[in-house]
Parts: sequence; structure tokens; C-alpha cells
Amino acid sequence: MSGFEARTSAAGSDALRDKYLDGLLAAGLYEDSCRSRYEAVNYRHLSPYKPSAYLVQKLREYEDRHRRCAPHTNAYKKMLPLLTGGVAAGTVEECKYLLWTPFSGVGNKIISLTSSFLYALLTERVLLIDRGRDFSKLFCEPFPGTSWLIPEDFPMKNLYFNRGDPLSYGSLVREKGIVNPLPSFVYAHVVTDFAQEDARFFFEEDQRALRGVPWLLVRSEVHYAAGLFLNADFEPELSRLFLETETVFHHLSRYLLHPSNKAWGMITRYYHTYLAKGKERLGIQIRIFDHNNSPFENVSTQVVNCLMKEKLLPEIDRNDPQVVPSRWKIMDVVVTTLHSGYLDKIRSIYWEHPAAGGVLVSVHQPSHEEYQLLDDESHDMKAWAEMNLLSFSDVLVTSAWSTFGYVGQGLGGLKPWILLRPKSPGLQEPSCVRDISMEPCFHLPPAYLCEQKMDGNRGKVAPYVTYCVDVEGGLKVLARNSEVQ
Ligand code: GDP
Repeated sequence: MSGFEARTSAAGSDALRDKYLDGLLAAGLYEDSCRSRYEAVNYRHLSPYKPSAYLVQKLREYEDRHRRCAPHTNAYKKMLPLLTGGVAAGTVEECKYLLWTPFSGVGNKIISLTSSFLYALLTERVLLIDRGRDFSKLFCEPFPGTSWLIPEDFPMKNLYFNRGDPLSYGSLVREKGIVNPLPSFVYAHVVTDFAQEDARFFFEEDQRALRGVPWLLVRSEVHYAAGLFLNADFEPELSRLFLETETVFHHLSRYLLHPSNKAWGMITRYYHTYLAKGKERLGIQIRIFDHNNSPFENVSTQVVNCLMKEKLLPEIDRNDPQVVPSRWKIMDVVVTTLHSGYLDKIRSIYWEHPAAGGVLVSVHQPSHEEYQLLDDESHDMKAWAEMNLLSFSDVLVTSAWSTFGYVGQGLGGLKPWILLRPKSPGLQEPSCVRDISMEPCFHLPPAYLCEQKMDGNRGKVAPYVTYCVDVEGGLKVLARNSEVQ
């Protein structure tokens, strides 16, 4: 039986796998234009998390709003003059926009896009994305019967604003204090070099002022959802949308991010060629940020120590007669990293010695690009494909600080083991720890936000917001009743 069949039979039968993900996905879309939308469920672990009926209702309302306000509709045409300081043409319908522009690596882009969609849901805005050099080619259109792309004829050509721009919210606050009314176009700088005024974006009074802005542009590279939970006006709605608070990225990424047919072709070809025979699947993501403190020998030892200590890989059986047992099962290991060497290190363990328990460990690495490139289509497509392959895992090991790993864990609904980032050139101990929730970490939140909104280790407004395990000072949403040390 192949792994794919094993997965569907584990669910009882194919028919029991709900391709609409309990209402998260709308029915009735033309399936061939986006094969992944309804097929991905057959490859991933069955999610134990159900979206709330309220989230489903809000998504359908969002889709209606998006269709009504989409580019080139009458409503959009009426709002367009406001973008450049003009007045609305005729009676204005309730259409307000959130423009999102891609920034940084693929993982950073994905987590900031997902947070921005959450923000659009909360504030009843329509999300339109700048397609970037190649970014939009990674995905299908997510909203039925309409487009999320900023159209080619959009009058504002350069959407790369900076925090010092006079129309950035931080600059406006610095100049005039909290202003109401604000201009009809405002840029929100949600980037980790936040100044105190930029951080005001997360505060109640400021969000009330921003409510009246028809065109809001966001640039970010972080999963800023945790910051939205700290806003007392947003928290009750967020709690209603996400009864299981740690599922924000899990549900929204499965709703929003469907690999394009090209990406899905890469993912499924790889899966059926190399992974379909396995009974179990382990994903390992190795990301090196600081080469000085992370020599290959140390990191590979750290990875193996983690896998063995936490019993994520089978033990070696030194007493075994070393022939393939008559009854065996395959365990697939998918390694994703930019670098060579790690695959051989893990593979050689089970070539030189048999695994206990009749397991054959089959180790694969889809690519080793060696260097990170920015906005390169083929390189980014591989990265996105590999994030999806990680999401097919039963168990996941990721690297601290990596948004690449966050995407795999969120799509997969997996709480990973985290390979901690070495702070010195020695061997990192402990090698890994279990994460506290599958939500991505909000890296480097503004100090001002933490001072005002955190009470020791807990959020004042949302006590299930706490500090991350993998990134010192980062913020993370936990399950509502989690214990925090
Ligand atoms: P982060 O820097 O780890 O937070 O993740 P990002 O995805 O934002 O940026 C890292 C970029 O480096 C990715 O988008 C890829 O372009 C590349 N990259 C890093 N790790 C891998 C990997 O394991 N596989 C592939 N194919 N690319 C990687």
C-alpha cells in the first residue's frame, strides 16, 4: 500500500476526507485551474482542528465583499480617486482596501500576507496584493470569481514606501499626534525596524483612526497576528473567529495559500516519486543564519542528537543480523536545507547499521540551492514546494527563527521540535526543544508594544499571547488554556 493510499485509508475512506476542509474552502470552483485547492487534503495529515462556524461565515462574507469591491468594479472605480488625494466619485459604497506588497524571503512574505489577510478580515477591508517579480505565480487566486492581484493599470506604480515617508502612519503620528481624519491613503510600516510611532499601529485609538482610511498599504515581513490579539478592540472578535487560538495561521494559510498548478506539479511529482511508499514521514528543516557559530560538523551533530534523543528516528540495532527483515516498513525523511551534507549524514546512519523494529529509513532532500536568492522564480518555486512537502509530515523538526519552517508547520498543523540557534561556535545544548504552539512567532515586535501590552510573560489583553521559545523577545499565540512557565 502506498503512503498516499495509507493516508486516505487512515481516514476511513477517500469520501471521508472533506475537501472543503469543514467549510473553510468555498465549493463550486473550477477545479482544474487550481488542482491543489481540493487535492492537498489527501496529502496532509488530517487536521484535528475545525474552523469555527463564525470564521466560515466571515470568510463567505469576505468573498462577497471582495467580488463587490474588486478591481474594475463600479465600487472600485468610485474609490480610486481617493488613492491620490482626490474625492470619491459619487456615492461611496463600503469598500476599503488593504494593499499588500511583498518583502523579504518567501517564508517572510507568506506569514506577513496571512497576517494581513487576518487584518483585512477584522477591519472589513479588501486585500489586494502587489504581484512582485514572481510571488503571485506561486499561488492560485484564493477568492472565488474574482482576483486578489493589484491590476496592471493601478494608478500608483511604486508601492515600496518606507517608514520615513510623509504618508507613513508613524510619520503622521510623529508630525501631528493621532490624527483624525487621516489622509485617504496611508502606509503602515509593520517591519521589524519599528519606531515607537510605527508601533502605534497595534493600539486601539490608532486603529479607530485608521478605520476611516479607504486605502491602506502594508509592508511587513513578520507574522504580526499576535500584535492584533493584544488590541482590546480586536481581541473579542479574534476569540470568536478562532475558538482554538493557536490555529490562526493554520486555518488562514490553508484557506489562502493554494500552490499554483506549476508548484503543485513539482510537489506531487516529488511526493509520488520518492515519498509515497512510506508509512510514516518525518520532516527536517535546517536553516543556517550565522555560519560562524554553525559549522557543519556541529550542526549535523546537533540534528542527529535531537532526532535520537527525542526518538524521532528509530534506534540502531547493533545485534541485528543486518539483513532486511521479512516484515518491514518504510519511514520517509524529507530534509529541506540550502546546503549539502546533512542528507548523507542521516542516510549513512542506517546504511552502516540497521534500524530497530524492522524499519527502513529512506532519506530525501529535494534541492540544495546553496545560496539564498531573492525574487528568483525557479528558486522561490522550489522553496514553496518544499514548505508544502514539509507540511505532509507526521512529525516535524524546524530551525529556530525560520519563517520557512513556520509555513511548513502551519500548513501541516504540526507543533514542531525546534533546533535551537547556536549562540557560540560550540555544540548547541539542548539540541532541540518542543515548540509551545504551531503558530508562527512574531519576530522582533516593537519594544513599546511589549512594554504597554505585556504583563510579565503574558499579554494583558490576551493572556494566551506569550514570548516565543525560538526567538528571544518574539511574541506568539498559544492555545487558550496553555500553561506558560
Ligand atoms: P527564513 O529566512 O528562514 O525565515 O525563510 P524565508 O523563506 O523567508 O527566506 C529564506 C529563503 O532562502 C527561502 O525563501 C528560499 O529562497 C531560500 N531557502 C532557505 N532554506 C531553503 C530550503 O531548505 N530549500 C530551498 N529550496 N530554499 C531555501
